Amino acid sequence: MTDPSSPEHTSGTVRVRFAPSPTGMFHVGGARSALHNWVFARQHGGTLVLRIEDTDASRNRPEWIEGIIRALAWLGIDEDEYEGPYFQSGNADEHRQAVERLRADGRAYFCDCTRDDVIARTGDSYRGYDGHCRDRGLEAGPGRALRFRTPDEGVTTVVDLIRGKPTFENANIEDFVIARGDGSVLFMLANVVDDKIQGITHVIRAEEHLSNTPKQQLLWEALGAQPPVWAHVPVVVNEKRQKLSKRRDKVALEDYQAEGFLAEAMRNYLMLLGWAPSGDREIVPWSVIEEEFRLEDVNPSPAFFDVKKLRAFNGEYIRALPVEDFVERCAPWLREPYAPWSPERYDPEVFARLAPLAQTRVAVLSEITAMVDFAFLDEPVIDEASWKKAMKEPAADILRGALEAFQDAEWTAEELKARAEEIGARHGLKLGKAQAPIRVAVTGRTVGLPLFESLQIIGRDRTLTRVRAALDRLTAE
Ligand code: GLU
Repeated sequence: MTDPSSPEHTSGTVRVRFAPSPTGMFHVGGARSALHNWVFARQHGGTLVLRIEDTDASRNRPEWIEGIIRALAWLGIDEDEYEGPYFQSGNADEHRQAVERLRADGRAYFCDCTRDDVIARTGDSYRGYDGHCRDRGLEAGPGRALRFRTPDEGVTTVVDLIRGKPTFENANIEDFVIARGDGSVLFMLANVVDDKIQGITHVIRAEEHLSNTPKQQLLWEALGAQPPVWAHVPVVVNEKRQKLSKRRDKVALEDYQAEGFLAEAMRNYLMLLGWAPSGDREIVPWSVIEEEFRLEDVNPSPAFFDVKKLRAFNGEYIRALPVEDFVERCAPWLREPYAPWSPERYDPEVFARLAPLAQTRVAVLSEITAMVDFAFLDEPVIDEASWKKAMKEPAADILRGALEAFQDAEWTAEELKARAEEIGARHGLKLGKAQAPIRVAVTGRTVGLPLFESLQIIGRDRTLTRVRAALDRLTAE
């Protein structure tokens, strides 16, 4: 039995792989497996292999392969960090040779049973193959699948760094299909053959594959090779404890990227699914993760992917950026297709002044657009709910007061604030209430950046024009 601490599995010969199937958008769960493999490889001075499992040609698309490679690079796993990409389809000869060897060794046999045949023999639902063709000695032929002959007795124990030594009764492992009637091989076999020829020592992957593991370990043994050490990382669930699904949940890494999650925040958060660094910390530099992470410490129970927490996390990462860096990272959301203003109205100097105010207030970068649009649009986009809320009595008087008081005020945030306070006091209002109509007139919304700093930045003319326009609308209503 392979011991995870045995020298051949922990010395410099460690080889792990990330083996995604390009059958859809790259999933956050996939990203986590990739990170686990990457960290493990780096910790052991080993190699990370990227293998695209593309044998199911009908479900693969080239853009999904590119999406995987782009997403990995975004997370920091760029092409220097892995060997490959290899493509499973490139190993077709080796797959066929393995199938042939298993057949020649009597470890596999042909079978012509349909599912219905099996059900007819064993009851009204399919509960696994009944072994009908085991000793019929069928030759290869059209429509005849090749099944692996699993042992009748004994147990298969796998060594799993996260789960200990799960043990499976061989009698419960059906004779599973390794090649279809048309000669094409199945995942179960192709995956093992690839791992074998690529010298993989540790298979770190999602819990969903745990049930495949005894079958795969039997294949390793039948092919005369030492099985790898396994590590099945916990399933990722939503707030209802349901497994994340692309129909129900936001799972595509690209969507998080488009919303303005930072790669650093994302990868830090993904590593916390089932694990925590030492001390009372969650937000830690990647170097700490590389130093402290241990697969053995990962909790095997389902891990909650908490989007709210991820947002809060991301906000903290954003606040920690040097402001110039924040400005740079906001760039995609300040132009088409996100920005509603015409490009010539955008003024980087104005944005540079707004940025420090915004940096403490966004949780994801995409929120920047609505936060600063008032500065680059000719007129603010008035949010009607905000208008209704703010433009109640004595809003007209406040706007009139502001027009008058701002006319000759020294154009600084402090002075504007002092004047607004005075206007409010006349109506017995605190500043928060008194500034609401001004804020909606100028920015279109009741919430946003600190108002008087914003006014200072956009200048007297634009401020007064907007206040006047709002007053006109209000008196006309
Ligand atoms: N292609 C499989 C998947 O994406 C990989 C399984 C494995 O890592 O062994 O689920």
